[in-house]
Amino acid sequence: MTSPGTTTVDVVVFGAGAGGMTAALVCALHGLDVLLCEKSGQVGGTTATSAGTIWVPGTRQARDAGMNDTIADASRYLGAIIGAADDRREIYLNTAADAVEYLDRNTDVKFSIYAKHPDYLANCPGSTIAGRALAPLPFDGRLLGRDFKRLRPPIGEFMALGGMMISRDDIDPLTRPFASLASFKKAASLVWRHALDRLLYSRGTRLLMGNALAARLFYSLRRNNVPVWLSTSLHDLVTDGTGVCGAVAQVNGEPRGIVARRGVILATGGFGGSIERLNEHVRPGLAHALAFAGAEGDGMRTAAAVGAAIELDHESPVFWTPVSDTRWLEGGRGAYPHLALDRSKPGLIAVNAAGRRFVDEAVSYHDFVLAMHRSHETTPTIPAWLVCDRAFIEKYGLGRIPPGARGWSWAVRNGYLVEAGTIDALAGKIAVDAAGLRSSIDQNNRSADTGEDETFGKGSTEFDRNNGDPENKPNPCIGRIEARPYYAMPVYPSTLGSSIGLKADADGRVLGANGKPIAGLYACGNDMASIMRGTYPGPGITLGPALVFGYRAAVAIAAGKG
Ligand SMILES: Cc1cc2nc3c(=O)[nH]c(=O)nc-3n(C[C@H](O)[C@H](O)[C@H](O)COP(=O)(O)OP(=O)(O)OC[C@H]3O[C@@H](n4cnc5c(N)ncnc54)[C@H](O)[C@@H]3O)c2cc1C
Repeated sequence: MTSPGTTTVDVVVFGAGAGGMTAALVCALHGLDVLLCEKSGQVGGTTATSAGTIWVPGTRQARDAGMNDTIADASRYLGAIIGAADDRREIYLNTAADAVEYLDRNTDVKFSIYAKHPDYLANCPGSTIAGRALAPLPFDGRLLGRDFKRLRPPIGEFMALGGMMISRDDIDPLTRPFASLASFKKAASLVWRHALDRLLYSRGTRLLMGNALAARLFYSLRRNNVPVWLSTSLHDLVTDGTGVCGAVAQVNGEPRGIVARRGVILATGGFGGSIERLNEHVRPGLAHALAFAGAEGDGMRTAAAVGAAIELDHESPVFWTPVSDTRWLEGGRGAYPHLALDRSKPGLIAVNAAGRRFVDEAVSYHDFVLAMHRSHETTPTIPAWLVCDRAFIEKYGLGRIPPGARGWSWAVRNGYLVEAGTIDALAGKIAVDAAGLRSSIDQNNRSADTGEDETFGKGSTEFDRNNGDPENKPNPCIGRIEARPYYAMPVYPSTLGSSIGLKADADGRVLGANGKPIAGLYACGNDMASIMRGTYPGPGITLGPALVFGYRAAVAIAAGKG
């Protein structure tokens, strides 16, 4: 039934992150009349601030690069970590590459394979060093024209020089421009392009990582004339006798009915951005969320109200990363994610309040935080302290302090970093047991000489070593801590996104308590329970499924699967 305050479409999608934008785009490409509604004033969600990597085995890009991975190996790998496969996981493994290929051929959403990006649990059977992780191709933000300002920017922590995005490959030339002619040329061209950008734009337009992915999706939506309503929030789902037939949205604060003839797709990003929801569903006292603040569980809440089931039995309800607190720099919720650049380098240990190590510091960000929580059960480990010396920071940087920095007294003054001339004094300043810290550093220095970390095996996996320093011998991840002064930086658990979410089938159809699909209701992205079930097997395990299940939901609706 249509009334003056009502809009009627085939499909309405709520949430303009990777999941929602992919679903809306594929709906349009299948000839459906689709409307994409986004709660905030910009598209992109957490996707726009992410690293943008997708974990998709069996792609053409991997084959073209001569990588000989197989779906059977990928399946064996996930099986070893998560246990027996369900339908959704098997279908993901067998169709994800087709979805990536479809986007590559029909849209501007394009990826390249990483030459090397090991799976995170590299000792498990079926793991690979390369072949499953893909990066979005960089994107020229100028192509978005006036829409550029409608794309959510990356976090300040991923930018330099007031808005220039930097990738891992840019760090070396930018921090050591005079190391070679090639370094100098690259650094000069990056800075020149950025200087030109800043004459016309509020930030750099050379978009990388998750910002490039969000921009590519948005650009493709615009090229296919898909209407995107910003400041439009899902409020409630509407049902008739057979299932979900529409929604009530708030458009700029005004209620509006949206009738959806073929389906409603929920892609509101899960609940990983809401401190309130995290304290309620995960653990009290959590104070940091790197996921976008707009991802506050609206999809799950509205779906549960019409009988949707929520999958709760995951190894972890959310995906984690350790962060250092940069609020003093950016204001608001600033946090630097310690994803890979510093923890794995030689000459750093992480300790709890007893001054003791509790983990192989080079494990994945998710596993690092799980270890913090485990250690915290017996010894205060929130925050955990990253401890190193002057030579480490000079060479590798630490958190927000980049490698090659000439000085970091500003960080000490701000309390971002704690400095002391002796280990005992450092322990005193951070209220950590001094004898424990001394013993941990002594043990680390012995391990640096032998190359063996007998307690936690730092540097023993391909994943660890890939993020270490290959020139450091005998172990690329273990080095002496001895050049005064000594430093400590506190890190806290923070979320990248949620894992628990709506139960759904492989076509994104949301299931009710009876295990049957609720007609007309679909979910993708973090609104759908993760197929990884709270484990973090490799780079890109949330965005890969977001794209693939967004694509599959759209194809299912077009095919009339109700
Ligand atoms: C620093 C960082 C790095 C990361 N790197 C990676 C990576 O490399 N690979 C990977 O796989 N994952 C990565 N992640 C995690 C990944 O970014 C998220 O899991 C993913 O972006 C979630 O996508 P989504 O489409 O579900 O949600 P989002 O991208 O968060 O989009 C959801 C959108 O829905 C909107 N919304 C919310 N409520 C409503 C409502 N009621 N009505 C309408 N709209 C609504 C939100 O405003 C938001 O724009 C990273 C995360 C962070 C923080």
